[in-house]
Amino acid sequence: MRTSRQVVDYSLQKRAVLRELHAGRVGTYDVCDASPYLKNAARFHGEPTDHRCPICRSENLTHVHYIYGDELKQSAGQARTLAELPVLAMTLREFQVFVVEVCLGCDWNHLVEQYLLGRDGLAEDGPDQGAVGGAATSAASVGRRRREAQR
Ligand SMILES: [Zn+2]
Repeated sequence: MRTSRQVVDYSLQKRAVLRELHAGRVGTYDVCDASPYLKNAARFHGEPTDHRCPICRSENLTHVHYIYGDELKQSAGQARTLAELPVLAMTLREFQVFVVEVCLGCDWNHLVEQYLLGRDGLAEDGPDQGAVGGAATSAASVGRRRREAQR
């Protein structure tokens, strides 16, 4: 059951970065800067994809899923495998997922999308949508801060 909601797609931003790169306005050093932490997360928790890296075109991209939310406590900000997300979504009311694509060949990385998961979403079509309350607002503000950090 897919319960993801408030999906934000970053493909436009990614295309803009690639345009800047191809136009020579930014260098590959600026965009191929995956940290050792991100690369480890990609190796151990990453989801392989069929998509070729847009920079080196020799490796396939790996998707890393980072989770954020008050209910996660010390697990907040950790990477999780795609298979772990539905389990978390059944046990937690709401948490935020950030998907980052990484190339382990050239260190290219970019935010792919973000969305909310959790049990709260199962009742979202019901009449009392207003009852989502504080958790949604705080998750949304985390998302905003995170977006600003990406710039
Ligand atoms: Zn690459």
